[in-house]
Amino acid sequence: MSRFLDTEIKFLKGVGDARAKVLASEIGVVTFRDLLYYFPYRHIDRSRFYSIAELQGTDLPALQIKGRFISFNVEGEGARKRLKGVFSDGRRMMETVWFSKINTFATAYKPGVDYVIFGKPSFYRNVYSIPHPEVEAFDPSKPPTGFRGVYSLTETMRKKGYTTRLLQNLVSNLLSHPGFSSIEDTLPAELMVHYNLMPLKEAFRQMHFPDNAQKLQKATERMKFEELFYVEMHILRYSMERGSKLPGFVFSKIGDKFNGFYFNVLPFELTGAQKRVLKEIRGDMKTGRQMNRLLQGDVGSGKTMVAFMSMLMAVDNNCQAALMAPTEILAQQHFSTIKQWAEPIGVNVALLTGSTRTAARREIHEGLLSGGIDIIVGTHALIEENVKFHMLGLAVIDEQHRFGVAQRGKLWHKNERVPHVLVMTATPIPRTLAMTVYGDLDVSVIDELPPGRKPITTLLRYDSNRLEVDRLIYSQLREGRQIYIVYPLISENDKLELKSLEEGYKRTCDTFHGYRVCFVHGKMKPEEKDHQMDLFVRGEARIMVATTVIEVGVNVPNASVMVIENAERFGLSQLHQLRGRVGRGADQSYCVLMGKAKSGGDTKKRLAIMTETTDGFLISEADMKIRGPGDMEGTQQSGLAFNLKVADLARDGQILTRAREAALAILRGTPSLLSPGCVATAPAPGDIAPIAVSGRSVEVLANELRLRFSKTIDWSQIS
Ligand code: ADP
Ligand code: MG
Repeated sequence: MSRFLDTEIKFLKGVGDARAKVLASEIGVVTFRDLLYYFPYRHIDRSRFYSIAELQGTDLPALQIKGRFISFNVEGEGARKRLKGVFSDGRRMMETVWFSKINTFATAYKPGVDYVIFGKPSFYRNVYSIPHPEVEAFDPSKPPTGFRGVYSLTETMRKKGYTTRLLQNLVSNLLSHPGFSSIEDTLPAELMVHYNLMPLKEAFRQMHFPDNAQKLQKATERMKFEELFYVEMHILRYSMERGSKLPGFVFSKIGDKFNGFYFNVLPFELTGAQKRVLKEIRGDMKTGRQMNRLLQGDVGSGKTMVAFMSMLMAVDNNCQAALMAPTEILAQQHFSTIKQWAEPIGVNVALLTGSTRTAARREIHEGLLSGGIDIIVGTHALIEENVKFHMLGLAVIDEQHRFGVAQRGKLWHKNERVPHVLVMTATPIPRTLAMTVYGDLDVSVIDELPPGRKPITTLLRYDSNRLEVDRLIYSQLREGRQIYIVYPLISENDKLELKSLEEGYKRTCDTFHGYRVCFVHGKMKPEEKDHQMDLFVRGEARIMVATTVIEVGVNVPNASVMVIENAERFGLSQLHQLRGRVGRGADQSYCVLMGKAKSGGDTKKRLAIMTETTDGFLISEADMKIRGPGDMEGTQQSGLAFNLKVADLARDGQILTRAREAALAILRGTPSLLSPGCVATAPAPGDIAPIAVSGRSVEVLANELRLRFSKTIDWSQIS
């Protein structure tokens, strides 16, 4: 489309054949476009001295400030010990911080001397501070060295003599190339105006050679917006196409089964959140648009009941429903719960797992095919080739992040008509991730726990507190309660970790002799594991020593203490999941995080979050900020098909929201961007006014989408 941007990089002044090969193989730069989008990973602003009053926002480049040190103070203890220097530019003050070589720095700088400090300011507790700044005495004869990007280079490139300087020169050649002025903007003028965005050409210049920090910030914002806008266009377009191409079952009525259950069997009052979510699900399933909904709800929020009542809507409309769980134990638990609810209203439920015997299995297969079975609960066994349905109307998938993309997809193809799909998770997904990774799913949230639950008391303890922890366990055991003790086993092959688990088991048996202790880890044979789990579920074993295999879904309301050993080795979301195994009854429950006394400030801060809140969403946001979105549970498996280059899901939530809104507006206003016959209706929210673009703008949009996503798989169909 743009001849200039598609020009091979070897034709750029200063490149040639040899360098072109290196650029392509090392950093994927093949065309002019690639180089323009190869942004510096950080910037250094030595063009001038900043005043502290000028510092704004959180995304500042490394910059320099001239001034004097007012005072130095040592704060904190042990691993958190740090040196704070108060620095003044004559009008305002800011901080500098050192975490190491504290004694050296505390005496290195003299009061009353002008210094230049250089570094990337961060904004923390309402003060700007530069950690470990470069400090030099102010030298009026030294000229400023400019505002530059620093490019990331590979080891191979460095060995071949490539430098940031060389990259700067190449980009500079490109920016002054006569063809540069022919570049068209990738965003329609309507959006540029509405969102006050910097034009593309200007943004390219400012990304590579910023005039100042404000312009760099505007340029970065534009590039982030552009990137997220196209991701959202891509996701929403598929979602709309799926919505119109795949007609869903129309569940028009609420019938006898649902009402019979609701009025005569339902053992408790639904929470407001459960009611709201059921309405949302009902709203989807009666429209004829195939539902693809993600149900998020903290552990214990009552997702199973929502799943069951949704399945009754299917049954009332002469369809079957399936509930798939990731483990045998969980499937069994679901089955016995659901059977209890279903039997009084004459709904047939069956259980199909890997261990279902051949004869029973055959019978179930027949029941599914004939329609005699209304609801099937099971494990992966449900997606086997020979499982065929009479009419599968709703597939519910529990703890969805435990399933691979392909596995989930298989349930779809059980019918000619795709069933409605409800995926449930207790691992809260930060909103930004939900909008991208799961962007084509509608999201429902149960944000309310059933009444009468006591909040779990979370304690952070160390080895030196062992006795106290043992006493707590004892007192709970004496009250008849059950205890989990969990060890990290990140790699099932790690001998050291396995050893600490086994030692923990022995120690537990010794300390609490007289109580039966069961033992579960991932290296066990499945039958043995199930046997051990079963001992605990039935209450025969009072203590379970385990690895995180228990993380998913086991429901033992009598368990009141969760001890997590080496807690610093778990991610926050995982800790939250583990904690959710207790606190399921009406009595007080405890979660004890056993930390390392010596661990550093960050680790303690992380664990402290757990003691401060039980809000899964807050925890997952914090977790994402710490670990980055790529490591979040669910990301890998979901096949995040695009790599974000500029935007950061952990930090750019606001830009993402605007980008999504813009994409929705454009798709609603410009039907020609969808395939013929598609209607740009869903997903909600419906209050975004359409923006119609036409002519050349449509071509540009379509071209960008092709360019950016032609190589990616169509994962939106298989979430
Ligand atoms: P999760 O969302 O973690 O899957 P469950 O569906 O297992 O949670 O529900 C946890 C417990 O709460 C179950 O024992 C369930 O019967 C109970 N429960 C669910 N909804 C309510 C409610 N509205 N009122 C009281 N108890 C409820
Ligand atoms: Mg559950």
